[in-house]
Amino acid sequence: MAYEVIARKWRPQQFSDVVGQGHVVQTLENALASNRIASAYLFVGPRGIGKTSIARIFAKALNCETGLTATPCDTCDNCREIMAGNSLDVLEIDGASNNRVDEVRDLRETVRYAPARGRFKLIIIDEVHMLSNSAFNALLKTLEEPPPHVKFFFATTEPHKIPATIISRCQRFDLRRIAEAEIIERLALIAKDEKVKIEDDALLAIARGSEGGLRDAESALDQLIAFKGKKITEADVLQVFGLVSRRTLDELSEGILAGEMASVIGHVDELEQAGKDLQRLVLELMDGFRNRLVGVYTDGQGDKSEVERLLRICDILAGADERMRFSLSKRILLETALVRCARAAKVATLEEIIAQINALKAEGGVVTMAAAPAEAAPAAPVARRAAPPAAAATAAPPKPAAPKAELAEPTAQPAKPTAQPAAPAGEELATLKAQWPKVVAHAGRIAVAVQGALKDACPAAVEGDTVHLDFDPEFASELSLFESARNRKAVERSLSNVLKRPVTATFQLGQEKAPHVAETPAPEEEYTVEAPPAEPDPPPMRKGNAQAWKQRDEVKQVLDMFNGTIVDVRE
Ligand SMILES: [Zn+2]
Repeated sequence: MAYEVIARKWRPQQFSDVVGQGHVVQTLENALASNRIASAYLFVGPRGIGKTSIARIFAKALNCETGLTATPCDTCDNCREIMAGNSLDVLEIDGASNNRVDEVRDLRETVRYAPARGRFKLIIIDEVHMLSNSAFNALLKTLEEPPPHVKFFFATTEPHKIPATIISRCQRFDLRRIAEAEIIERLALIAKDEKVKIEDDALLAIARGSEGGLRDAESALDQLIAFKGKKITEADVLQVFGLVSRRTLDELSEGILAGEMASVIGHVDELEQAGKDLQRLVLELMDGFRNRLVGVYTDGQGDKSEVERLLRICDILAGADERMRFSLSKRILLETALVRCARAAKVATLEEIIAQINALKAEGGVVTMAAAPAEAAPAAPVARRAAPPAAAATAAPPKPAAPKAELAEPTAQPAKPTAQPAAPAGEELATLKAQWPKVVAHAGRIAVAVQGALKDACPAAVEGDTVHLDFDPEFASELSLFESARNRKAVERSLSNVLKRPVTATFQLGQEKAPHVAETPAPEEEYTVEAPPAEPDPPPMRKGNAQAWKQRDEVKQVLDMFNGTIVDVRE
C-alpha cells in the first residue's frame, strides 16, 4: 500500500471527527437537520485547523445519496468521489493559484449547469482572499443571484482582505486554534495506531510547536517518524524543530521574575549557541506569562501588582516579537527585551506606590502622636524660641512636622518630655508578640516588600531603644531585604507605633520558628483611631512654597522613595 501522510490519512471524514471546532460543527449540523442551507459559507481561521476539511464534510452531507444528512455515509458513490477528490459536482479552487479573472468567469459558466450526480454543485475556494479584484467582481455577480443548486464554501486566513460585499453574502464561521490538550489527545491516538512509542513530553512539545494548528502537528509527527522511527523522545522533537525545553523556559521565566539579569542573558546566549528559534522562544515566553496572568485571576487572589507586572512583561515581549520579525539581529532585540522584562518584574508598580503613599499618609498622624504626644507638638516653638529647658530640647520628636510647629500658636502649656516612661522590656516584648500581626500589616502598608518577610520573623528582645527581631533560619535570604533603609524604617515605624516610643530594630537569624501570622491584616481603624483627635490640619501652604512642603515628614518620605525633588506646588 502506498504511503499516505498522516495529515491526509487522518483527515476527519465526519463532523464528529473534527477536533476543537464544536461551535461550528454544531451550527452546521443544525442547518442540515432543519434544511436551512445558506448559499455561501465563509470559514475563517489560521492554517491547518480544519477549514477545508469541514467544507468537504459539508459537501458530502449535502450530496450523500442517503439524503441530506449530518452523518454522510462515506460509502455511496457521491461520498467516495468527494473523498477521492474527483467528484464532478465539487470544484475545489485554490485562490492563491487561480486568482485570474478568467478562471472565475469559467467558474460562472460551470455553475450555470445542473449538478451531474448530486443535489448541488459545490464550490470550495481556499485562500479566497488571494483572488484579484476583478475575480472578486466576477464572483460577486454569481453570489448576488446564486442558482439554487449552487453552494459556495470559502476558506481564508485573512478575512480583512475579502471585500465586504462578498463577506456580507456569506454565513461566517470563525474557527479557533486548537487547544494543546486536544492536539495531544489526537496525536496520541495517531501514534498508537501507527505503533509509534512517543513520550508525553514529546507530544506536548509538538503541540506547543504547532501553535494550535492540528495539520502542522500531524505533519510534525510524520517528519519525526521519518527521522527517528518508532520511538520518539522530547529531545528529538526539540532538536528537529529548534524548540526550547519546558524546563529551560521555566528557568528563563523565573529568572525574569526574579530580576536576575545575568541568568537571563546567560540563557539567551546558550539558546542561541544551540541554534534555537529565538522568535518562537519569545512567543512561548509570552504564552507562559499569559498563563501566569490567567492563574493570578483564577486563583481568586487578583493581586493587582502582580497583574500589572505580568501585563508589562507581556507588552514588552509582544513588542519584541513584532520587531524581531523584521530584524536580522534577533539576539540583540531578544536580550534587551528580556532585560527590560526583568526590570519590569522588579520595579514597583503604580498600585504599590499608591499603597505606600497612602500608608505614609496614614502614618503621618501616628508618628507625630507616637513620638510626640499631642500637647508637646505646639510646645515646640516655645522651646525653640525661649532657650528651652533641657527636657524639651532632648524630647523633640525625631521627625518634627516642622512647618506646622513653626506656624502653630504658642500655648501656655509647659513643655513636657515627649517620650513616655518606657515600660519594662519584658512587658514591651509581650506587647510586641501579641500585636505582631498588627506590626506586620502596618509595616507592609508602608513598604509592601517587607510584609511577607516579617511574617517569618518574631520579636526576640527589647533592649533600651532597640528591638531585636529574629528570623526563621529557613528564610535567611529575606534578611537582605532589611539592608534597605526604607524597609528598615517601615519596620521601625511600625514597632514605634505599637510601643508608643521611637525605637530602632535589628534583624538577625533566630532559633525559634516564627509564629504563624494571620493572613488578614488588622483593620485600618486600629491605626487611624490612634491619631490625636484634636490634631489640627496643617496650615495652608502658600502656592509655590516648596521649601515649607519639603519639611513635611510625609513629603520627605515620598521624595526619598522616588529620589525626587519638588518641581511645583499647586493649590
Ligand atoms: Zn454517502
